[in-house]
Amino acid sequence: MIVDLKNWLIFQKDVFGEEIYTNNFNKDLILNKLEEKSRIQNNTKQQEKLFKIDFKKNAKSVNLQWYNSKNLDELNNCIKTCMECGLGKTRKNFVFGVGNPNADILIIGEAPGADEDEQGEPFVGRAGQLLNKMLESIDLKRSDVYIANIIKCRPPNNRRPTNEEINECEPYLQKQIEIIKPKIILALGLTAVSSLLKIEFKMSDIRGSLLDYHGIKMIITYHPAALLRNPTWKRAAWEDLKLLKETYSNIIN
Ligand code: SF4
Repeated sequence: MIVDLKNWLIFQKDVFGEEIYTNNFNKDLILNKLEEKSRIQNNTKQQEKLFKIDFKKNAKSVNLQWYNSKNLDELNNCIKTCMECGLGKTRKNFVFGVGNPNADILIIGEAPGADEDEQGEPFVGRAGQLLNKMLESIDLKRSDVYIANIIKCRPPNNRRPTNEEINECEPYLQKQIEIIKPKIILALGLTAVSSLLKIEFKMSDIRGSLLDYHGIKMIITYHPAALLRNPTWKRAAWEDLKLLKETYSNIIN
């Protein structure tokens, strides 16, 4: 690090405090402080971006303390009775999410389907079995990752969730992200991607590269249900999985 000594004495007191200014011109101490300051600033920026969760002040059907939940169980207990959009009336089960609460990888799909609604767990039907195989192909188990959806209740006939339903439900997912603190998000399908990034994309334009979601690396691939309908997309999905594996390896190494 290069420091302009002329300006150094002027700003160091503000930056580092009295202790360094007056007594200890200690290079290691100063560099540590600089790194710490930079880390705190980065974390704060990331948190400011990530944690702009829409606190639903008028919500009647959830424990309003959901916003302050410290862990996933607490959050689930606060919101599992949610009826804040019409899907609350038609669901059989609320589908919160499943997996390792400390996972480095968070997988986000669109919405629960019939099997998920029946069992209260995401990705348990045929698409879920394919997702498990996709994970196994890159030496990951379902229990290594955390799996959630953009919305927690099944839309009737598996229709695409409306923007209103997504807007109502997405704060819960944001809170899950805040608690889990994943290092990588794998977004499955365009509904998940456009909900997270707030922009409409074509899959061909967006997949295959490493994106940023509020400081978290994000990779896009096809939803397993789409791969079941269109097996020719599996080759591209395999490329995305290899990118996930490479990115994850870089992070843990
Ligand atoms: S989809 Fe989300 S917002 Fe709508 S009722 Fe279910 S949990 Fe509540």
